[in-house]
Amino acid sequence: MLSYQHAYHAGGPADLHKHLILAELLDLLTRKPRSLSYFETHAGRGMYDLTSTESQKTGEAAEGISAITLPDCPLRRALEQVQEQYGPDIYPGSPLIAQTLLRPDDRLHLMELHPAEVKALRANLKAPNTTIHHRDGYEGVLALAPPKPRKGLVLVDPSYEIKSEYSQAAAFCRKLVAKWPEATILVWYPILPAARHNELLDGLQMPHLVNEVAFDLKDGKGMTGSGMVMLGAPYGAEAIFKRAMQSAQGLLRPKG
Ligand code: SAM
Repeated sequence: MLSYQHAYHAGGPADLHKHLILAELLDLLTRKPRSLSYFETHAGRGMYDLTSTESQKTGEAAEGISAITLPDCPLRRALEQVQEQYGPDIYPGSPLIAQTLLRPDDRLHLMELHPAEVKALRANLKAPNTTIHHRDGYEGVLALAPPKPRKGLVLVDPSYEIKSEYSQAAAFCRKLVAKWPEATILVWYPILPAARHNELLDGLQMPHLVNEVAFDLKDGKGMTGSGMVMLGAPYGAEAIFKRAMQSAQGLLRPKG
């Protein structure tokens, strides 16, 4: 089932949560000279126009990125670079944030299954260090792991359209760690009344860090917040969560 379209949600509070942490983590990992492998299981189209009909329909960006002025932080640096090149209404998806913050010697592998999204991703993310794969993200990343360079990060960002995706994401993490123990893995999840994200967290069965936030969303369809879980966290990862919360200036509240 591929009915989810990220254009409706780009730049909303959940995206802000995910992208602030992703950008901080990329900033931390790229301080060491060693090259990285970067993977996404669910890439989306990489770039979104916040004046589009989809974006205007939900108004999520107006409740997220457009509601605050980011202080100096890695996400702001990526956003400024992207907007300088593509215009002030463009918001980068996670692949473009990563491409902007990574270095020419780092390798990006981006998986996307939806034909229209992958076509747009190919047009938006052209660079010699980036490979775009039209395939299932779980299958694709497992097939390529462990990669060269061996140090790296995997972003897992499913749409959770199907209830079983929570346990599927956990099973994927267990398999990936068995094949590629050095990987750092970041998984985003929504917090909904049914609390199915507990199936993901309980299913990991290995040490992990969690950051959960609450936010208000006029038409959030029951979503009261979101979470990020990190596996194989590098030294300094706890501070990343703190800095991301500070950058969000109260728009994302620690989930109590
Ligand atoms: N990571 C993106 C970002 O932050 O900019 C947003 C990704 S969006 C939440 C999820 C994407 O996964 C959608 O574009 C959808 O088409 C795609 N998708 C759904 N199932 C997939 C699968 N099994 N493998 C790869 N992509 C999939």
